[in-house]
Amino acid sequence: MKLLLASRNEGKLVEFRLLLPGFELLPWPKTAPGIPEDGAFFRDNAAQKADFARAWWSRHGEAELDGVLADDSGLCVEALHGGPGVLSARFARELEQDEKNRALLAMMPLDARRNASFVCVLAFAPFPAGELVYAEGTVEGKLAPHPAGTRGFGYDPIFIPKGYRRTFAQLGNRVKSRLSHRARACEALKLMV
Ligand code: IMP
Repeated sequence: MKLLLASRNEGKLVEFRLLLPGFELLPWPKTAPGIPEDGAFFRDNAAQKADFARAWWSRHGEAELDGVLADDSGLCVEALHGGPGVLSARFARELEQDEKNRALLAMMPLDARRNASFVCVLAFAPFPAGELVYAEGTVEGKLAPHPAGTRGFGYDPIFIPKGYRRTFAQLGNRVKSRLSHRARACEALKLMV
């Protein structure tokens, strides 16, 4: 199956290529416009991205496709009332990711529970038309005391999955692709498309 990934996030592209080995994944073209995401829920954003990318590709795309894949995901921290959550990409936008990770840890109240989870909602849009199919995945864990590790992307250096003592950025893709929110959502999606 040939799929267009509705995302400019290189980290997501690397992971999807590992998670969906039988699929050919085209990256969102550099010349294409930014993909909007202004919804209040992961699912709204995933749908918005999938619809936008499918509509754009029907007018400008150069290859035949089987579908468009959109991912909306984020880090939900219990002590921050679930935040940054759906706003993970928009949180402290002016900061580099490393500073962003430190800023998030600095927001944690002293002695607060450090429980956190990553959530991923996928929307698959068949091409050229048809109803969206959704799949979701979550991985539970906790916030690290400070950023650690260089692998992965985004908030990986500050997230320790349950059952481990190191962050996703230390553990790397061999572990992450077995138990991540994105891995779980992909497993669910594969049963439906
Ligand atoms: P969005 O899905 O484009 O709204 O972006 C989600 C943001 O959440 C990303 O830019 C990352 O900062 C963060 N994020 C989502 N998934 C992951 C992950 O697997 N690891 C680390 N950060 C993630």
